[in-house]
Amino acid sequence: MRRAVCPGSFDPIHNGHLEVIARAAGLFDEVIVAVSTNYAKKYRFSLEDRMEMARETLASLRGIIVEPMGEGLLAEYCRHRGISAIVKGLRSSSDFDYELPMATMNRQLAGVETVFLPAEAHYVHLSSTLIKEVNVLGGDISDFVPKSVLKRLLAGEPPTDLPRKG
Ligand code: ADP
Repeated sequence: MRRAVCPGSFDPIHNGHLEVIARAAGLFDEVIVAVSTNYAKKYRFSLEDRMEMARETLASLRGIIVEPMGEGLLAEYCRHRGISAIVKGLRSSSDFDYELPMATMNRQLAGVETVFLPAEAHYVHLSSTLIKEVNVLGGDISDFVPKSVLKRLLAGEPPTDLPRKG
């Protein structure tokens, strides 16, 4: 069985993520969406909420599992689960410059390859951070996130570290 991982913080999951995960599911027998938590980072959504939104939006796709990644190395995570590939979406050359050393390190540490999928043109500008900022400032983000994410973003209080609508 060919198993891949799509790692990320998914705070929250958006249409750019979903598109890359769906393409990964077409290439591998099983795709694990590994939701990471870095305790130095401040998240808009809890790990449970981030996983729930990912599960809700990926429920109709076969062969996808949503799991917490834990705190350790991605290379070790892959080794323990028999994962042969890490799948990453690439939006820009700066994504590539950031990802290349990690890809080489993961191959050297655990023999795991990284597969880069070019971001779909329609979603190439999307990041969770930009979507949250546009939402807090009152912009329409409905084209960029699935319905369950939109509902939560519209219902929630803006986080204190982002500007509030005046
Ligand atoms: P991080 O955990 O680095 O904050 P994200 O959770 O936002 O990253 O994204 C996880 C992964 O999803 C990224 O490493 C990238 O491979 C992919 N990704 C993010 N945004 C897009 C996009 N708009 N199009 C395609 N892939 C994307």
